[in-house]
Amino acid sequence: MVPTIKLNDGVEIPQLGFGVFQIEPGQTSDKVKAALNTGYRHIDTAQMYGNEEGVGRAIAESGIPRDELFVTTKLNNDGHSHDDAIKKLDESLDRLGLDHVDLYLIHWPQPKQDRYVETWQGFEDAKKAGRTRSIGVSNFNPEHLARLAVETSTVPSVNQIEVHPHLIQAALRDYNSRHGIATEAWSPIGQGKGLLEEQTLATIAQRLGRSPAQVVLRWHIQHGNIVFPKSNTLSRVQENFQIFDFELTGDDVAAIDRMNADRRIGADPNDAG
Ligand code: NAD
Repeated sequence: MVPTIKLNDGVEIPQLGFGVFQIEPGQTSDKVKAALNTGYRHIDTAQMYGNEEGVGRAIAESGIPRDELFVTTKLNNDGHSHDDAIKKLDESLDRLGLDHVDLYLIHWPQPKQDRYVETWQGFEDAKKAGRTRSIGVSNFNPEHLARLAVETSTVPSVNQIEVHPHLIQAALRDYNSRHGIATEAWSPIGQGKGLLEEQTLATIAQRLGRSPAQVVLRWHIQHGNIVFPKSNTLSRVQENFQIFDFELTGDDVAAIDRMNADRRIGADPNDAG
């Protein structure tokens, strides 16, 4: 039901997943189980979220074959070195109860530390050792990606960046796609605040008999973005999954594009950390 996107290393990733940022560690297992029962097969977590154990427990108890699941985690900002990148992945695998993840990301480039190139070389080695099927980055700007291109031999499979109708990131998405890097959109519905009350979305949603959240998620899908909205509420988890049985027109997509205000929710990648 959920389409996949083929990454530049041949690995297929479901275009819709479930994000677990800000889900309480003690609740994560139940929330991930609810998502798996709904049909989600792609989970996006991170060392920083402190809830990898709950993700792992839900996976173990689900009985779903490992090869039907796609699990992403991300290196914490205090792990920027070749060896720490590998050591911290092994610690994640212990917490997740897995022998490999599907995607491992550098969470933030941390340009002030200036160690993301060396860290990326650790990622290349982790992939060679089979601890992750794909490797990618998050919150990288073109100047960070350009350095990886010049100083290392692997192009990231994905760049996970903040994207929603208030920050459509046209230039960075275009850069990614010209370099064979898939775009993952974080906070895809703008964390639900303000954005979903905009009149443009209400008008389209009303015409299609959908919710504003479904319209925004569908806009991402039609742009080719990979998304993993988060919710603690089962009805919303289910609603966010029902986005493959309708389409936006080209005019709808263009109208939502025009909502761009270059307005971030999160940190600027050059400042974070
Ligand atoms: P999101 O855009 O997914 O919004 C989640 C919030 O929107 C929920 O807490 C809820 O309040 C609301 N919501 C969810 N479904 C709704 C619906 N159907 N109708 C109305 N409101 C709804 O925000 P997010 O959690 O920040 O981002 C999604 C995922 O992206 C995260 O869980 C995480 O996996 C990832 N992420 C990554 C980074 C990064 O730096 N790489 C940063 C932030 C988030």
